[in-house]
Amino acid sequence: EKEDERTAQASQLFENFVQASTCKGTLQAFSILCRQLELDPLDHSNFYNSLKAAVSTWKVKALWTKLDKRAQQKVYSQNKACQGTRCLIIGGGPCGLRTAIELTLLGCKVVVIEKRDTFSRNNVLHLWPYTIHDLRGLGAKKFYGKFCAGSIDHISIRQLQLMLVKVSLILGVEIHVNVEFIKLLEPPEEQTDVGHGWRAEIRPSGHPVSDFEFDVVIGADGRRSTLDGFRRKEFRGKLAIAITANFVNRNTTAEAKVEEISGVAFIFNQKFFLELKEDTGIDLENIVYYKDNTHYFVMTAKKQSLLDKGVIINDYMETERLLSPDNVNQEALLSYAREAADFGTNYQLPSLDYAINHYGQPDVAMFDFTCMYASENAALIREKHGHQLLVALVGDSLLEPFWPMGTGCARGFLAAFDTAWMVKGWAKGKSPLEILAERESIYRLLPQTTPENISKNFEQYSIDPATRYPNLNASCVRPHQVRHLFIDGHQGPGQIERGGPARRSVNLSRKESEVHPGRLLNWCQRQTHGYQGVDVTNLASSWRNGLALCALIHRQKPELIDYDSLNEEDVAGNNQLAFDVAEREFGIQPVTTGKEMAADSQPDKLLMVLYLSKFYEAFRNSPF
Ligand code: FAD
Repeated sequence: EKEDERTAQASQLFENFVQASTCKGTLQAFSILCRQLELDPLDHSNFYNSLKAAVSTWKVKALWTKLDKRAQQKVYSQNKACQGTRCLIIGGGPCGLRTAIELTLLGCKVVVIEKRDTFSRNNVLHLWPYTIHDLRGLGAKKFYGKFCAGSIDHISIRQLQLMLVKVSLILGVEIHVNVEFIKLLEPPEEQTDVGHGWRAEIRPSGHPVSDFEFDVVIGADGRRSTLDGFRRKEFRGKLAIAITANFVNRNTTAEAKVEEISGVAFIFNQKFFLELKEDTGIDLENIVYYKDNTHYFVMTAKKQSLLDKGVIINDYMETERLLSPDNVNQEALLSYAREAADFGTNYQLPSLDYAINHYGQPDVAMFDFTCMYASENAALIREKHGHQLLVALVGDSLLEPFWPMGTGCARGFLAAFDTAWMVKGWAKGKSPLEILAERESIYRLLPQTTPENISKNFEQYSIDPATRYPNLNASCVRPHQVRHLFIDGHQGPGQIERGGPARRSVNLSRKESEVHPGRLLNWCQRQTHGYQGVDVTNLASSWRNGLALCALIHRQKPELIDYDSLNEEDVAGNNQLAFDVAEREFGIQPVTTGKEMAADSQPDKLLMVLYLSKFYEAFRNSPF
């Protein structure tokens, strides 16, 4: 009987957690659950299984079945693919949380920090069919019964965050709210008691997360990402002012009958926009209406009509000044959006009362989409004092979405998967430049993705990009093109190490790993002196035909290369031979291919320095 009681209590505690409707409430219910059931939420690799064993009533069986199915995907290697890799995720928005889930399934230790403690965005995200499938697979229906019922293909941002926080916690992700990321802290030169890896400066400063050392950091902090090192490019020039508005949904039959206005197709309904302008003076480029927890509208308005209707007070060239709060008449904005919503729904919504936002104000907002930004690159690697850190962006930080198109969540999740794939490669010990080149190759596809051109076989979807992008060329960006994304602080060569997380932290002493280019050149000249057809005067063009490389190897082990048989003209052949032999015999990873060497008029100097310095490290103490 006692046993039954305990089972019932566990089930009830879990239901409280599942049903919690706020961020704080969820975290609180989770903490009570863990305490009562004596589960250790910090034991990330065993937490999910312990929770499953503790809460085993029929009510949750379906959820466990779903999560088990996901966790058993081969790519995760039974939760061991990234064992030992530690990740910090900045931002608990939908994309940060979705990334956290994948990384924890791979076996990483994952810590999410979120600067707020409320999920308050009523605004509604459009979901592509694959995202609906994906979220169902994570048990969305269990957490939010109304999830995508019937033909509904959207969800409010707050509901989405709530459900993803719950799944994350269940799978062993550590989440801290009211914790703000300030900047990265480099590892100290000498190992100290406080630690020796990469850490983060955060606010509040004494928080335990400031002691967390990590190998991977993910910027998921929204459109204004705080992580350094990523150049942003602008990708839209036309003036575009978007308005979002949320009205109370009382869920009456009358409201239920009103049709949604969904998606891009409506943009082509010119008659509607002409009539709207004639009847009301409101001039829009597009409008979307979703019936969700609120009646949600997003529309792009033409500037002139905002001026005519008194929403914008004075006309300025710079959009920032144009839309600054003191140039906007809030009352006029409320009427403008309400009138557009009323017309758009054919005056069928019985009452258009504004929902109240987080600040206690009617939930209407105007945003500038004239300049939207995308990061030029998706990832980079930093190295300091022998510690490498993989730095990546996801979600709006990577690629800002145009809200009326509703691509934010769909493309955001694709990037979350691609990033997890990269982390897996990193943990497996792939070389940094290869990892970065592959990530950039995949990132190039992201802005072009649509529900139509990605794979339709959702059942097959995993973090492996090949399961999602039908025309994937994962090597369209070459390692030598991403060299600038490997940042080692002093641009010295010889820092790129191969190996899994353990080897990534090898503490190369600076003396061992750094060689001044002048000294490197000197050494190379001595090594290749006297070889026919070789005259090393620099660290770039002198190496193009491959003879000097072959000479370098021949000097150490003459039996490996028949130097006299080489043909000066066979640039690709000579280089490829040297690359292959050096890799096979000395474990020196090639940084490019023979073909690439032949294609370029001269090799890239930094890449050459990087490559040659490995020979230096390997042979500088040899007697030859
Ligand atoms: P976000 O959802 O923006 O999450 C970023 C998170 O990081 C936030 O929770 C933030 O508090 C946190 N954060 C930021 N800085 C730090 C820091 N230094 N330390 C710790 N945490 C930090 N899209 C639409 O399609 N339609 C809409 O109507 C719409 N409305 C939006 C309204 C607002 C106010 C915002 C901000 C975004 C809106 N979006 C909308 C965009 C949409 O929310 C995102 O595309 C989607 O949520 C995926 O974003 P994300 O997870 O990358 O970032």
